[in-house]
Amino acid sequence: MATHSLLAPSAAERWINCPASVVMSEPFPDTISEYAAEGTTAHKLAELKIRSSILGEEVDGKEVDKVKRSKYYNPDMEDYTDEYVEYVRSLVNSNETTVLPETRLNLNFITQGTVGTADCILAFGNELHVIDFKYGKNVEVNAQDNPQLKIYGLGACNLIDGLIYNIENVTVHIAQPRMNNFSSMTISKKELKDWLKDEVRPQALKAINGTAETAVGNWCQFCRAKTVCRKYGERFDVDYKPDNPNTLSNEEIAERITRLSGLDGYLKDLKKYALDKILDGETFPGLKAVAGRSVRTWTDQEEAFRIAQENGYDHSVLFEQVPLSLAKVEKMMSKRKFNELLSDYVDKPPGKPTLVSENDPRESIVTESVDNDFTDVDINKIDFD
Ligand code: SF4
Repeated sequence: MATHSLLAPSAAERWINCPASVVMSEPFPDTISEYAAEGTTAHKLAELKIRSSILGEEVDGKEVDKVKRSKYYNPDMEDYTDEYVEYVRSLVNSNETTVLPETRLNLNFITQGTVGTADCILAFGNELHVIDFKYGKNVEVNAQDNPQLKIYGLGACNLIDGLIYNIENVTVHIAQPRMNNFSSMTISKKELKDWLKDEVRPQALKAINGTAETAVGNWCQFCRAKTVCRKYGERFDVDYKPDNPNTLSNEEIAERITRLSGLDGYLKDLKKYALDKILDGETFPGLKAVAGRSVRTWTDQEEAFRIAQENGYDHSVLFEQVPLSLAKVEKMMSKRKFNELLSDYVDKPPGKPTLVSENDPRESIVTESVDNDFTDVDINKIDFD
């Protein structure tokens, strides 16, 4: 039986579609990535801005200093959090609007002990708005039918409805400024409650009891159990068809590219899993652990360089001076300052052709002249997930 805390709203798409993943993920630690830590810093900064600039609260300077001293803080974070705060401000209807930034939600209606935090809740008239601030810049998130947001919508209804407001409709929003991605979806309170009753609770029950079969889909990319999941692994099984002609057709190649797009990551995960287990004493037929290639490092670089200089090796031959990359200069200055001072000296040539799924929103670049020239295609950048 799974612990309730594993039914996190942020993983709702996964556990609603594949409830079996909850029990299967339990042996695998949930690590906090650098991206998540950066997101936490940005959320804190955004909350302080909402408190001071929308709610007119006096914000403790020490809290602001603490955010700015974080190793994840950089000047661009100011611009992106400003964009999020402006989005929230644009939704504030009047002085009568209740604004609740970073609000802890009791989600016991899913299972006892489930909690979540809404980035910002707004309530006025019979409307409720829940805004989710995404700081990531790699995976675009959409508000449409987003289970995490719908759960927050239910949690916010639970908190507010019937007190001062009689909520009829809930609008959930994604604000993802680093991808210039803002979207929303409105749903009635009744539809949300029906969804909870008909889909969420039955799937949550299966997840807690561990009584479900695995179901593969886009949600697998964030599943900690995918290394040991049989059904996920079957996706990469090669289907030999000896009766076929010697050469693969374009259709077969396209099918393989689509199906095997996560193979690099999957193989890396499998290797890490097997190595950890071998180091713990388990065996995997035909495999063993050995010491990898080792790289020499200084025990005391300062002293070593002092001796080298004493013996005639000048500072200029021991040290390299390398210019910062364009991205690092921009990060150091902030986007705004960079554009103001240096934008005239920046060129952005067209990107190298990259193969993606036909569902990708970017426009196809194929013209007559490049139709038969794929020599420059970067096959490491095939992006189907
Ligand atoms: S990898 Fe996919 S199918 Fe397997 S348990 Fe995880 S979510 Fe379910």
